[in-house]
Amino acid sequence: MTNEIWVQVRDVLRQEVGQSNYRNWIEPLEFAQLDGGVATFLVPTSFIGNWVERNFGDRILHHLHSAGAHVSRLVFSVSRITAAPDPKPGAAPAPAPKPAEAAKEDLPGAPLDPRYTFDSFVVGKPNQLAHAAARRVAEGGPVTFNPLFLYGGVGLGKTHLMHAIAHEMQTRDPSLKVLYLSAEQFMYRFVQALREKQMMDFKHLFRSVDVLMVDDVQFIAGKDSTQEEFFHTFNALVDQNKQIIISGDRAPGEMKDVEDRIKSRLQSGLVVDLHPTDYELRLGILQTKAARYREQYPDLLIAEGVLEFLAHRISTNVRVLEGALMRLFAFASLVGYEITLEKAQDALSDILRASDRKVTVEEIQRKVAEHFNIRMSDMIGPKRQRSIARPRQVAMYLSKALTTRSLPDIGRRFGGRDHTTVMHGVRRIEALKASDTQLAEDLEMLRRALEE
Ligand code: ADP
Ligand code: MG
Repeated sequence: MTNEIWVQVRDVLRQEVGQSNYRNWIEPLEFAQLDGGVATFLVPTSFIGNWVERNFGDRILHHLHSAGAHVSRLVFSVSRITAAPDPKPGAAPAPAPKPAEAAKEDLPGAPLDPRYTFDSFVVGKPNQLAHAAARRVAEGGPVTFNPLFLYGGVGLGKTHLMHAIAHEMQTRDPSLKVLYLSAEQFMYRFVQALREKQMMDFKHLFRSVDVLMVDDVQFIAGKDSTQEEFFHTFNALVDQNKQIIISGDRAPGEMKDVEDRIKSRLQSGLVVDLHPTDYELRLGILQTKAARYREQYPDLLIAEGVLEFLAHRISTNVRVLEGALMRLFAFASLVGYEITLEKAQDALSDILRASDRKVTVEEIQRKVAEHFNIRMSDMIGPKRQRSIARPRQVAMYLSKALTTRSLPDIGRRFGGRDHTTVMHGVRRIEALKASDTQLAEDLEMLRRALEE
Protein backbone atom coordinates (compact mmCIF):
# COMPACT_ATOMS: atom_id res chain seq x y z
CA MET A 1 0.00 0.00 0.00
CA THR A 2 1.19 3.44 -0.78
CA ASN A 3 0.29 6.81 0.52
CA GLU A 4 -1.70 7.32 -2.69
CA ILE A 5 -4.15 4.63 -1.69
CA TRP A 6 -4.60 6.31 1.65
CA VAL A 7 -5.22 9.66 0.01
CA GLN A 8 -7.85 8.00 -2.15
CA VAL A 9 -9.49 6.27 0.83
CA ARG A 10 -9.47 9.51 2.76
CA ASP A 11 -11.58 11.10 0.06
CA VAL A 12 -14.12 8.31 0.25
CA LEU A 13 -14.23 8.72 4.03
CA ARG A 14 -14.69 12.44 3.72
CA GLN A 15 -17.89 11.81 1.77
CA GLU A 16 -19.03 9.18 4.19
CA VAL A 17 -18.43 10.66 7.63
CA GLY A 18 -19.12 14.31 6.88
CA GLN A 19 -16.89 17.33 6.95
CA SER A 20 -16.59 17.91 10.67
CA ASN A 21 -15.89 14.28 11.53
CA TYR A 22 -13.42 14.20 8.73
CA ARG A 23 -11.60 17.23 9.99
CA ASN A 24 -11.56 16.07 13.59
CA TRP A 25 -10.65 12.44 13.15
CA ILE A 26 -9.52 11.41 9.71
CA GLU A 27 -7.42 14.33 8.56
CA PRO A 28 -5.05 14.13 11.55
CA LEU A 29 -4.08 10.57 10.57
CA GLU A 30 -0.78 10.21 8.84
CA PHE A 31 -0.06 6.97 7.04
CA ALA A 32 3.30 5.63 8.20
CA GLN A 33 3.82 2.14 6.88
CA LEU A 34 2.37 -1.20 5.91
CA ASP A 35 4.19 -4.18 7.27
CA GLY A 36 2.94 -7.76 7.27
CA GLY A 37 -0.68 -6.70 6.85
CA VAL A 38 -0.46 -4.13 9.62
CA ALA A 39 -1.09 -0.56 8.54
CA THR A 40 0.32 1.99 10.95
CA PHE A 41 -0.95 5.53 11.22
CA LEU A 42 0.57 8.33 13.22
CA VAL A 43 -1.88 10.24 15.38
CA PRO A 44 -1.37 13.47 17.34
CA THR A 45 -2.68 12.00 20.62
CA SER A 46 -3.58 8.54 21.85
CA PHE A 47 -7.04 9.88 22.58
CA ILE A 48 -7.60 10.53 18.90
CA GLY A 49 -6.10 7.16 18.04
CA ASN A 50 -8.48 5.37 20.37
CA TRP A 51 -11.50 7.20 19.05
CA VAL A 52 -10.64 6.56 15.46
CA GLU A 53 -9.99 2.92 16.12
CA ARG A 54 -13.25 2.43 17.96
CA ASN A 55 -15.48 4.54 15.76
CA PHE A 56 -13.97 4.44 12.31
CA GLY A 57 -11.67 1.42 12.38
CA ASP A 58 -13.98 -0.95 10.52
CA ARG A 59 -14.80 1.61 7.91
CA ILE A 60 -11.17 2.46 7.26
CA LEU A 61 -10.26 -1.19 6.97
CA HIS A 62 -13.15 -1.82 4.64
CA HIS A 63 -12.19 1.00 2.28
CA LEU A 64 -8.53 0.06 2.32
CA HIS A 65 -9.56 -3.42 1.23
CA SER A 66 -11.79 -2.04 -1.49
CA ALA A 67 -8.89 0.07 -2.73
CA GLY A 68 -6.81 -3.08 -3.05
CA ALA A 69 -4.57 -2.77 -0.01
CA HIS A 70 -3.71 -6.01 1.78
CA VAL A 71 -4.37 -4.86 5.29
CA SER A 72 -5.65 -7.02 8.11
CA ARG A 73 -5.07 -4.74 11.06
CA LEU A 74 -4.74 -1.06 11.88
CA VAL A 75 -2.41 0.44 14.43
CA PHE A 76 -2.64 4.02 15.59
CA SER A 77 0.52 5.23 17.15
CA VAL A 78 1.59 8.53 18.62
CA SER A 79 5.25 7.88 17.98
CA ARG A 80 7.16 6.92 14.88
CA ILE A 81 8.58 3.81 16.46
CA THR A 82 5.66 1.54 15.80
CA ALA A 83 6.93 -1.38 17.84
CA ALA A 84 6.82 0.66 21.02
CA PRO A 85 3.67 0.41 23.07
CA ASP A 86 1.39 3.42 23.35
CA PRO A 87 2.48 5.73 26.13
CA LYS A 88 0.60 5.27 29.36
CA PRO A 89 -2.02 7.94 29.90
CA GLY A 90 -0.29 10.89 31.46
CA ALA A 91 3.20 9.45 31.12
CA ALA A 92 3.97 11.17 27.85
CA PRO A 93 1.44 13.90 27.33
CA ALA A 94 0.97 14.94 23.75
CA PRO A 95 2.48 18.32 23.07
CA ALA A 96 -0.05 20.98 23.96
CA PRO A 97 -1.42 22.72 20.89
CA LYS A 98 0.02 26.14 20.26
CA PRO A 99 -2.71 28.71 21.07
CA ALA A 100 -2.78 29.89 17.51
CA GLU A 101 -3.63 26.37 16.42
CA ALA A 102 -6.05 25.66 19.23
CA ALA A 103 -8.94 26.11 16.89
CA LYS A 104 -11.96 23.94 16.32
CA GLU A 105 -9.99 20.83 15.45
CA ASP A 106 -8.73 20.64 18.99
CA LEU A 107 -12.08 20.57 20.70
CA PRO A 108 -12.03 17.53 22.93
CA GLY A 109 -15.44 16.28 21.88
CA ALA A 110 -16.68 12.92 20.77
CA PRO A 111 -17.19 12.16 17.09
CA LEU A 112 -20.67 12.57 15.71
CA ASP A 113 -22.34 9.60 14.13
CA PRO A 114 -23.04 10.61 10.53
CA ARG A 115 -26.20 8.48 10.52
CA TYR A 116 -27.85 10.38 13.36
CA THR A 117 -29.54 13.19 11.48
CA PHE A 118 -32.97 14.77 11.54
CA ASP A 119 -33.64 13.07 8.21
CA SER A 120 -33.23 9.64 9.69
CA PHE A 121 -35.21 10.41 12.83
CA VAL A 122 -38.77 9.08 12.69
CA VAL A 123 -41.23 11.31 14.48
CA GLY A 124 -44.25 9.97 16.34
CA LYS A 125 -46.42 10.97 19.25
CA PRO A 126 -43.97 9.86 21.95
CA ASN A 127 -41.10 11.98 20.65
CA GLN A 128 -42.70 14.82 18.73
CA LEU A 129 -42.18 17.42 21.42
CA ALA A 130 -38.53 16.55 21.90
CA HIS A 131 -38.05 16.54 18.16
CA ALA A 132 -39.69 19.94 17.74
CA ALA A 133 -37.57 21.44 20.51
CA ALA A 134 -34.40 19.95 19.01
CA ARG A 135 -35.31 21.36 15.61
CA ARG A 136 -35.89 24.77 17.05
CA VAL A 137 -32.57 24.84 18.84
CA ALA A 138 -30.78 23.53 15.75
CA GLU A 139 -32.09 26.42 13.69
CA GLY A 140 -29.91 28.70 15.77
CA GLY A 141 -31.16 32.22 16.05
CA PRO A 142 -31.70 33.86 19.40
CA VAL A 143 -31.19 31.48 22.29
CA THR A 144 -34.64 31.09 23.76
CA PHE A 145 -34.41 28.04 25.94
CA ASN A 146 -31.21 27.46 27.74
CA PRO A 147 -30.48 24.74 28.45
CA LEU A 148 -32.51 22.36 26.38
CA PHE A 149 -32.81 19.31 28.59
CA LEU A 150 -33.81 16.05 26.89
CA TYR A 151 -34.56 13.05 29.02
CA GLY A 152 -35.93 9.56 28.63
CA GLY A 153 -35.17 5.86 28.98
CA VAL A 154 -32.47 3.91 27.19
CA GLY A 155 -32.60 3.72 23.41
CA LEU A 156 -35.33 6.28 22.87
CA GLY A 157 -33.27 8.62 20.69
CA LYS A 158 -31.61 11.16 22.99
CA THR A 159 -28.15 10.76 21.52
CA HIS A 160 -29.57 10.62 18.01
CA LEU A 161 -31.34 13.96 18.49
CA MET A 162 -28.26 15.60 19.98
CA HIS A 163 -26.08 14.53 17.07
CA ALA A 164 -28.78 15.72 14.69
CA ILE A 165 -28.72 19.15 16.31
CA ALA A 166 -24.93 19.27 16.03
CA HIS A 167 -24.95 18.24 12.35
CA GLU A 168 -27.61 20.77 11.52
CA MET A 169 -25.83 23.60 13.33
CA GLN A 170 -22.53 22.74 11.66
CA THR A 171 -24.18 22.72 8.28
CA ARG A 172 -25.83 26.07 8.83
CA ASP A 173 -22.70 27.67 10.16
CA PRO A 174 -19.45 25.75 9.65
CA SER A 175 -17.53 28.22 11.77
CA LEU A 176 -19.60 27.45 14.84
CA LYS A 177 -17.73 25.67 17.61
CA VAL A 178 -20.07 22.89 18.62
CA LEU A 179 -18.76 20.65 21.35
CA TYR A 180 -20.53 17.36 21.95
CA LEU A 181 -19.38 14.93 24.61
CA SER A 182 -20.73 12.63 27.29
CA ALA A 183 -20.68 13.61 30.94
CA GLU A 184 -18.23 10.78 31.41
CA GLN A 185 -15.84 12.31 28.92
CA PHE A 186 -16.29 15.66 30.57
CA MET A 187 -15.17 14.13 33.82
CA TYR A 188 -12.29 12.31 32.19
CA ARG A 189 -11.03 15.53 30.60
CA PHE A 190 -11.46 17.38 33.86
CA VAL A 191 -9.53 14.84 35.89
CA GLN A 192 -6.82 14.72 33.26
CA ALA A 193 -6.51 18.50 33.34
CA LEU A 194 -6.22 18.44 37.11
CA ARG A 195 -3.55 15.78 36.98
CA GLU A 196 -1.57 17.50 34.29
CA LYS A 197 -2.06 20.89 35.90
CA GLN A 198 -3.75 22.28 32.85
CA MET A 199 -6.89 23.60 34.42
CA MET A 200 -6.48 26.95 32.73
CA ASP A 201 -6.47 25.30 29.33
CA PHE A 202 -9.43 23.18 30.31
CA LYS A 203 -11.47 26.14 31.45
CA HIS A 204 -10.51 28.17 28.46
CA LEU A 205 -11.45 25.40 26.07
CA PHE A 206 -14.85 24.73 27.55
CA ARG A 207 -15.72 28.37 27.89
CA SER A 208 -14.78 29.20 24.34
CA VAL A 209 -17.32 27.02 22.56
CA ASP A 210 -20.50 28.33 20.96
CA VAL A 211 -22.60 25.31 21.72
CA LEU A 212 -22.01 22.76 24.47
CA MET A 213 -23.75 19.40 24.44
CA VAL A 214 -23.38 17.01 27.34
CA ASP A 215 -24.91 13.57 26.92
CA ASP A 216 -25.99 11.31 29.79
CA VAL A 217 -25.50 13.91 32.49
CA GLN A 218 -26.68 11.46 35.16
CA PHE A 219 -23.13 10.18 35.11
CA ILE A 220 -21.97 13.10 37.26
CA ALA A 221 -24.25 12.01 40.11
CA GLY A 222 -22.21 11.66 43.26
CA LYS A 223 -19.05 13.07 41.67
CA ASP A 224 -18.73 16.27 43.58
CA SER A 225 -15.77 18.05 42.08
CA THR A 226 -16.90 17.21 38.56
CA GLN A 227 -20.31 18.65 39.40
CA GLU A 228 -18.67 21.77 40.70
CA GLU A 229 -16.68 22.26 37.52
CA PHE A 230 -19.67 21.44 35.37
CA PHE A 231 -21.70 24.04 37.24
CA HIS A 232 -19.12 26.75 36.61
CA THR A 233 -18.74 25.85 32.95
CA PHE A 234 -22.48 25.88 32.62
CA ASN A 235 -22.87 29.29 34.21
CA ALA A 236 -20.05 30.82 32.22
CA LEU A 237 -21.65 29.73 28.96
CA VAL A 238 -25.15 30.78 29.92
CA ASP A 239 -23.77 34.19 30.86
CA GLN A 240 -22.37 34.51 27.36
CA ASN A 241 -25.71 33.45 25.95
CA LYS A 242 -24.26 30.28 24.46
CA GLN A 243 -26.61 27.38 23.79
CA ILE A 244 -26.35 24.35 26.05
CA ILE A 245 -28.03 21.02 25.38
CA ILE A 246 -28.08 18.29 27.97
CA SER A 247 -29.51 14.80 28.09
CA GLY A 248 -30.26 12.59 31.03
CA ASP A 249 -32.07 9.42 31.94
CA ARG A 250 -34.64 11.22 34.06
CA ALA A 251 -36.01 14.67 34.82
CA PRO A 252 -33.56 17.01 36.59
CA GLY A 253 -35.69 17.11 39.71
CA GLU A 254 -35.55 13.34 40.03
CA MET A 255 -31.80 12.94 39.81
CA LYS A 256 -30.18 11.58 42.92
CA ASP A 257 -26.84 12.74 44.29
CA VAL A 258 -26.86 15.86 42.20
CA GLU A 259 -26.63 19.20 43.96
CA ASP A 260 -29.82 21.22 44.16
CA ARG A 261 -28.27 24.24 42.50
CA ILE A 262 -27.36 22.08 39.51
CA LYS A 263 -30.82 20.57 39.35
CA SER A 264 -32.39 23.96 39.30
CA ARG A 265 -29.93 25.14 36.67
CA LEU A 266 -30.84 22.17 34.50
CA GLN A 267 -34.50 22.98 34.92
CA SER A 268 -34.15 26.62 34.05
CA GLY A 269 -34.59 26.21 30.30
CA LEU A 270 -36.84 23.83 28.46
CA VAL A 271 -37.22 20.29 29.78
CA VAL A 272 -38.74 17.77 27.38
CA ASP A 273 -38.98 14.03 27.61
CA LEU A 274 -38.92 11.23 25.09
CA HIS A 275 -41.72 8.85 25.99
CA PRO A 276 -41.43 5.12 25.52
CA THR A 277 -42.21 4.26 21.91
CA ASP A 278 -45.69 3.14 21.02
CA TYR A 279 -46.74 0.64 18.39
CA GLU A 280 -47.15 3.22 15.62
CA LEU A 281 -43.73 4.75 16.17
CA ARG A 282 -42.07 1.36 16.32
CA LEU A 283 -43.73 0.33 13.08
CA GLY A 284 -42.74 3.64 11.46
CA ILE A 285 -39.12 3.17 12.48
CA LEU A 286 -39.09 -0.42 11.24
CA GLN A 287 -40.62 0.54 7.90
CA THR A 288 -38.17 3.40 7.40
CA LYS A 289 -35.18 1.26 8.23
CA ALA A 290 -36.43 -1.70 6.21
CA ALA A 291 -36.86 0.55 3.18
CA ARG A 292 -33.26 1.63 3.56
CA TYR A 293 -32.06 -1.99 3.71
CA ARG A 294 -34.11 -2.76 0.65
CA GLU A 295 -32.35 -0.04 -1.31
CA GLN A 296 -29.11 -1.79 -0.51
CA TYR A 297 -30.35 -5.33 -0.98
CA PRO A 298 -33.23 -5.15 -3.43
CA ASP A 299 -33.75 -8.89 -3.65
CA LEU A 300 -34.31 -9.55 0.03
CA LEU A 301 -37.90 -10.32 0.89
CA ILE A 302 -39.66 -9.82 4.16
CA ALA A 303 -43.18 -11.23 4.25
CA GLU A 304 -46.12 -9.03 4.97
CA GLY A 305 -46.96 -8.83 8.64
CA VAL A 306 -43.42 -9.44 9.89
CA LEU A 307 -42.69 -5.80 10.68
CA GLU A 308 -46.07 -5.45 12.38
CA PHE A 309 -45.26 -8.49 14.44
CA LEU A 310 -41.92 -7.00 15.53
CA ALA A 311 -43.53 -3.67 16.36
CA HIS A 312 -45.96 -5.54 18.58
CA ARG A 313 -43.59 -7.81 20.31
CA ILE A 314 -40.30 -6.01 20.73
CA SER A 315 -39.67 -3.66 23.58
CA THR A 316 -39.80 0.11 23.47
CA ASN A 317 -36.02 0.41 23.12
CA VAL A 318 -35.31 1.38 19.51
CA ARG A 319 -31.81 -0.04 19.65
CA VAL A 320 -33.24 -3.50 20.31
CA LEU A 321 -35.68 -3.01 17.47
CA GLU A 322 -32.89 -2.06 15.09
CA GLY A 323 -30.84 -5.05 16.18
CA ALA A 324 -33.73 -7.38 15.44
CA LEU A 325 -34.26 -5.92 11.99
CA MET A 326 -30.58 -6.07 11.18
CA ARG A 327 -30.52 -9.70 12.17
CA LEU A 328 -33.51 -10.47 9.96
CA PHE A 329 -31.84 -8.91 6.95
CA ALA A 330 -28.57 -10.66 7.66
CA PHE A 331 -30.49 -13.88 7.97
CA ALA A 332 -32.39 -13.25 4.74
CA SER A 333 -29.19 -12.56 2.87
CA LEU A 334 -27.61 -15.74 4.18
CA VAL A 335 -30.44 -18.13 3.47
CA GLY A 336 -31.62 -16.28 0.40
CA TYR A 337 -35.32 -16.74 0.75
CA GLU A 338 -38.27 -14.78 1.95
CA ILE A 339 -38.43 -14.15 5.67
CA THR A 340 -41.81 -15.38 6.77
CA LEU A 341 -43.35 -14.69 10.14
CA GLU A 342 -42.37 -18.14 11.28
CA LYS A 343 -38.77 -17.76 10.23
CA ALA A 344 -38.63 -14.35 11.87
CA GLN A 345 -39.85 -15.84 15.15
CA ASP A 346 -37.20 -18.49 14.84
CA ALA A 347 -34.36 -16.13 14.07
CA LEU A 348 -35.32 -13.75 16.86
CA SER A 349 -36.45 -16.16 19.53
CA ASP A 350 -33.92 -14.91 22.09
CA ILE A 351 -34.80 -11.25 21.58
CA LEU A 352 -38.50 -12.04 21.67
CA ARG A 353 -38.14 -13.97 24.87
CA ALA A 354 -36.09 -11.23 26.51
CA SER A 355 -38.51 -8.49 25.63
CA ASP A 356 -41.60 -10.46 26.57
CA ARG A 357 -43.29 -8.14 28.95
CA LYS A 358 -44.84 -10.17 31.72
CA VAL A 359 -48.45 -9.14 31.74
CA THR A 360 -50.38 -10.44 34.70
CA VAL A 361 -53.93 -11.73 34.72
CA GLU A 362 -54.80 -9.01 37.17
CA GLU A 363 -53.51 -6.26 34.89
CA ILE A 364 -55.59 -7.72 32.10
CA GLN A 365 -58.69 -7.81 34.28
CA ARG A 366 -58.18 -4.19 35.30
CA LYS A 367 -57.62 -2.93 31.78
CA VAL A 368 -60.60 -4.82 30.43
CA ALA A 369 -62.85 -3.72 33.29
CA GLU A 370 -61.81 -0.14 32.69
CA HIS A 371 -62.35 -0.46 28.96
CA PHE A 372 -65.87 -1.86 29.25
CA ASN A 373 -66.67 0.26 32.24
CA ILE A 374 -67.46 -2.52 34.66
CA ARG A 375 -66.27 -3.04 38.18
CA MET A 376 -63.26 -5.14 39.02
CA SER A 377 -65.42 -7.00 41.57
CA ASP A 378 -67.81 -7.97 38.78
CA MET A 379 -64.93 -9.27 36.72
CA ILE A 380 -64.33 -11.98 39.28
CA GLY A 381 -67.83 -12.07 40.78
CA PRO A 382 -70.77 -14.33 39.96
CA LYS A 383 -72.96 -12.08 37.77
CA ARG A 384 -73.97 -13.67 34.49
CA GLN A 385 -75.68 -10.97 32.47
CA ARG A 386 -74.07 -10.37 29.14
CA SER A 387 -72.81 -6.83 29.83
CA ILE A 388 -70.56 -8.36 32.45
CA ALA A 389 -70.00 -11.89 31.18
CA ARG A 390 -68.72 -10.71 27.81
CA PRO A 391 -65.94 -8.46 29.19
CA ARG A 392 -65.06 -11.30 31.55
CA GLN A 393 -64.67 -13.64 28.59
CA VAL A 394 -62.55 -11.02 26.84
CA ALA A 395 -60.28 -10.90 29.87
CA MET A 396 -60.06 -14.69 29.90
CA TYR A 397 -59.22 -14.74 26.23
CA LEU A 398 -56.48 -12.15 26.68
CA SER A 399 -55.13 -13.96 29.73
CA LYS A 400 -54.76 -17.09 27.63
CA ALA A 401 -53.18 -15.17 24.75
CA LEU A 402 -50.80 -12.91 26.67
CA THR A 403 -49.72 -14.93 29.70
CA THR A 404 -48.32 -18.40 30.12
CA ARG A 405 -50.93 -19.36 32.72
CA SER A 406 -52.82 -22.61 32.32
CA LEU A 407 -56.62 -22.69 32.03
CA PRO A 408 -57.16 -23.94 35.61
CA ASP A 409 -54.79 -21.26 36.83
CA ILE A 410 -56.68 -18.56 34.96
CA GLY A 411 -59.98 -19.95 36.27
CA ARG A 412 -58.73 -19.61 39.84
CA ARG A 413 -57.96 -15.95 39.24
CA PHE A 414 -61.48 -15.36 38.00
CA GLY A 415 -63.11 -16.04 41.32
CA GLY A 416 -62.36 -19.75 41.37
CA ARG A 417 -64.01 -20.71 38.09
CA ASP A 418 -63.57 -24.09 36.49
CA HIS A 419 -61.09 -24.51 33.63
CA THR A 420 -63.93 -25.55 31.30
CA THR A 421 -65.61 -22.19 31.90
CA VAL A 422 -62.37 -20.45 30.87
CA MET A 423 -62.07 -22.63 27.80
CA HIS A 424 -65.63 -21.86 26.84
CA GLY A 425 -64.99 -18.12 27.23
CA VAL A 426 -61.83 -18.24 25.14
CA ARG A 427 -63.56 -20.16 22.34
CA ARG A 428 -66.55 -17.86 22.42
CA ILE A 429 -64.37 -14.79 21.89
CA GLU A 430 -62.35 -16.51 19.18
CA ALA A 431 -65.53 -17.28 17.30
CA LEU A 432 -67.06 -13.85 17.80
CA LYS A 433 -64.09 -11.78 16.78
CA ALA A 434 -64.23 -13.19 13.25
CA SER A 435 -67.63 -11.60 12.64
CA ASP A 436 -67.84 -8.80 15.19
CA THR A 437 -65.52 -6.04 13.97
CA GLN A 438 -66.16 -3.88 17.02
CA LEU A 439 -65.02 -6.70 19.26
CA ALA A 440 -61.99 -7.34 17.06
CA GLU A 441 -61.03 -3.69 17.41
CA ASP A 442 -61.53 -3.74 21.17
CA LEU A 443 -59.28 -6.77 21.43
CA GLU A 444 -56.60 -5.17 19.31
CA MET A 445 -56.68 -1.99 21.35
CA LEU A 446 -56.52 -3.83 24.65
CA ARG A 447 -53.71 -6.02 23.47
CA ARG A 448 -51.72 -3.00 22.48
CA ALA A 449 -52.34 -1.16 25.71
CA LEU A 450 -51.32 -4.23 27.67
CA GLU A 451 -48.18 -4.90 25.72
CA GLU A 452 -46.78 -1.44 26.04
P1 ADP B 1 -30.52 7.04 23.78
O1 ADP B 1 -29.39 7.99 23.63
O2 ADP B 1 -31.80 7.70 24.18
O3 ADP B 1 -30.20 5.86 24.64
P2 ADP B 1 -30.06 6.61 20.96
O4 ADP B 1 -30.19 7.99 20.47
O5 ADP B 1 -28.69 6.05 21.11
O6 ADP B 1 -30.85 6.44 22.35
O7 ADP B 1 -30.95 5.66 20.05
C1 ADP B 1 -30.75 4.26 19.97
C2 ADP B 1 -30.83 3.81 18.53
O8 ADP B 1 -32.18 3.95 18.07
C3 ADP B 1 -29.98 4.66 17.61
O9 ADP B 1 -29.43 3.82 16.62
C4 ADP B 1 -30.97 5.62 16.97
O10 ADP B 1 -30.59 5.98 15.67
C5 ADP B 1 -32.25 4.82 16.95
N1 ADP B 1 -33.45 5.66 17.12
C6 ADP B 1 -34.00 6.08 18.29
N2 ADP B 1 -35.10 6.80 18.06
C7 ADP B 1 -35.26 6.86 16.72
C8 ADP B 1 -36.23 7.48 15.86
N3 ADP B 1 -37.26 8.17 16.34
N4 ADP B 1 -36.06 7.31 14.53
C9 ADP B 1 -35.04 6.59 14.03
N5 ADP B 1 -34.10 5.99 14.78
C10 ADP B 1 -34.20 6.12 16.11
MG1 MG C 1 -27.51 8.00 24.49
